[in-house]
Amino acid sequence: MPLGVYGVRVPRPGRRLWLAYLTAGTLAVFAYFLIPTHDVAWQARLALYCVISASAAAAIWHGTRRYRPPARLPWLLLAAGQVADAAADIAFHTAHYLLGSVPPGADLLYLGHYPLAVAGLALLVRRRTGGRDLPGLLDAAVIAVAAALLSWQFVISMEVRAGGSGLARIACAGYPVMDLALLAVALRLLLGAGRRPPAFHALLASLFATFGADTVYLLQTRHGEYQAGSVLDAVWLGGSLALGAAALHPTMVRLGEPAPGRAVTPGPGRLAALTAAVLLAPATLLYQWARHNYADIPVTALACAVLFGLVAARIAGLVNDQRRLAVTDGLTGLHTRRFVEAQLALELARARRTGCTLGFFVVDVDDFKSINERYGHPAGDTALVGIAERLRAVTRSGDVLARYGGEEFALLVPGARPDELREIGERLREWVAGSPIAVCAETYVAVTVSVGAVGYPLSAVDDAGTPGQAGGTDPSVDELVAVADRALGRAKATGRNRVVVGRPPAGRVPAAAGPGARPARPGRVGASGRDAAMADFLRHVADQVDARLSPQEHSSAVGRWARLLALELGYDEAAVTRAELAGRLHDIGKIILPEGLLVKPTRPSEEEWLLLRQHPVHGARLAGLVPEFGGVAEVIRQHHERFDGTGYPDGLAGSAIRPEARILAVCDSWAAMRADRAYQPRLSHDAARGQLRLGRGTQFDPDIVDLFLDLLDGGRIGELAIRTGQHGGEPEPGTGQAAWLSTLR
Ligand code: GH3
Ligand code: MG
Ligand code: MG
Repeated sequence: MPLGVYGVRVPRPGRRLWLAYLTAGTLAVFAYFLIPTHDVAWQARLALYCVISASAAAAIWHGTRRYRPPARLPWLLLAAGQVADAAADIAFHTAHYLLGSVPPGADLLYLGHYPLAVAGLALLVRRRTGGRDLPGLLDAAVIAVAAALLSWQFVISMEVRAGGSGLARIACAGYPVMDLALLAVALRLLLGAGRRPPAFHALLASLFATFGADTVYLLQTRHGEYQAGSVLDAVWLGGSLALGAAALHPTMVRLGEPAPGRAVTPGPGRLAALTAAVLLAPATLLYQWARHNYADIPVTALACAVLFGLVAARIAGLVNDQRRLAVTDGLTGLHTRRFVEAQLALELARARRTGCTLGFFVVDVDDFKSINERYGHPAGDTALVGIAERLRAVTRSGDVLARYGGEEFALLVPGARPDELREIGERLREWVAGSPIAVCAETYVAVTVSVGAVGYPLSAVDDAGTPGQAGGTDPSVDELVAVADRALGRAKATGRNRVVVGRPPAGRVPAAAGPGARPARPGRVGASGRDAAMADFLRHVADQVDARLSPQEHSSAVGRWARLLALELGYDEAAVTRAELAGRLHDIGKIILPEGLLVKPTRPSEEEWLLLRQHPVHGARLAGLVPEFGGVAEVIRQHHERFDGTGYPDGLAGSAIRPEARILAVCDSWAAMRADRAYQPRLSHDAARGQLRLGRGTQFDPDIVDLFLDLLDGGRIGELAIRTGQHGGEPEPGTGQAAWLSTLR
């Protein structure tokens, strides 16, 4: 089945049925006017008129069966109204031609068709707007009230005040009243929200044709000028045909669908019509005053008051809309950056006053440019909407989610505890990455985001989301945002699709903690005494190896830096400790090499080289002696793997190498280059930096090189110390061996 206009599936035969109906109907109307009105021919004329009028009911019946609209009742009521109208026509014309006058009963039949049509249209409007579209309702009411005022002034008041029987007066006043009701729903349809396919326009044409012809009929009747069989019949019949065509058009199914979005701001045309409608009331007052018609002034005053109330309500709605639009992103419907930052300032002030906590997250779509480039900008927009929906699904009431920039989002979570930040960030990340997003028909793209997080108070959080000591810092909104931004930058620099919890910038660490201090490590101290002793022994081995190589520290510095990098990367506590311990022990495998080999001033032979290359394997075996060190052993085994796959012992490449091992590769090289060795004097700072840069993407993970160089620039790497003490390095502060072991898996 082909997919026609407006995405409606249409059975192929008879797709243009509405056109055939309209053509046949128009020809029939021509034929109607060709039939003479005298003698017996009037019967044929009447029959044709009624057939054309009733054909709209048949068309509606057929259309609802053929297209099966979700809302059938409105159409069936319209059809019933049409049948009542045709019945009234038969009565009217029979009386007119046969008796020469129209009995009041015919009027009642005519009047009966209006409530059916009005009820059908009201139901249709309700389905289209879901009862929500208040601006459309107010606009329609303003114009309908102005029309009612005119109608009262020129038609209804005269009918009411005219003499005659009660039934006749009710019938005469009933026409304009019913026409007003029809006009009101037609305006509601015209000015309300909802789709506007061709069937919509045909239906409106039918309503306005009927209303227009009825109005002219009333005015002509009032002045005794109405002639049966005049051109007005063509307008009425045209209205019936338009109704039938609307029902036969394939897009009729769309008429009852709910409006896709909220009502838009009124355009100049609508504003002009509303202004004219409102000004009509004082103009009518002036007219009545000029004509000394004081009897109708109360009605006009009432209309003025109603119009004033409607306009006031409309203005209040517009102000509200503007306020909402100012803090709402047009594409995603989320809040704007301005709003979330204002809320952040409020929540920060509240948190300061009450001692509460809060979390702030900046979320940036990874590699979003490529979506635009591959699928086009509109598809990119669709992806942004999909991402916004996913992020919204993660938020709770009270959270503030915003579009922060082009493809950046921000989330403010009042009350989020420092230890929850990572979990919340991961939830955001996982919901986006969890399933692909449809960007155009049948095209799904996998999207990931990187998240930078920050908590208040700053001092109560570290990179691993571990609570520390509160107090000591009082960041501004800008500082909090800057920390989150930096954390996001880290997440990007280290591979994307990850969460980094930001730390206070240097100098903002709480005084109680002191420089270089580490947060207390929670967790069980469960390692056995034997394992603890073994770990201590391995550190001793590492120191022995270092002592053979150089007077400067090596493994303790590598361990320290590896920890720093792992923290910057936002790794969890176990991974941070694993990186640190693997750094500390990475060279223990060298203990089994002949002592002279490590300090040989000349290039090693092929055989010696083979021996040297085995030290990661030996080191891993030694570390593996401690059951808790399984992960550490694996990192040690991989610390000479190269990012491009040409390293040893296993020739792993890229992400196949454990991230801690990729960290170690950079730290180990830096420490080696910056130390005086028997075979090579230390390299200058710049030369060593040059070597790291040279190895970006070949020997080393480029993101980790970048991070290392950043930290170096920030003065956070420091120089190698001369070894002191039994272990050749500073003692690991605040931790016993058992605590070390407890966090490793
Ligand atoms: P990264 O992973 O580093 O964040 O890469 P990226 O490509 O996502 O980031 P970058 O900042 O280089 O590019 C962002 C792109 O987002 C560029 C811009 O054209 C696109 N963008 C920004 N706003 C919109 C938008 O409203 N709609 C669409 N379709 N694209 C947008
Ligand atoms: Mg960006
Ligand atoms: Mg991006």
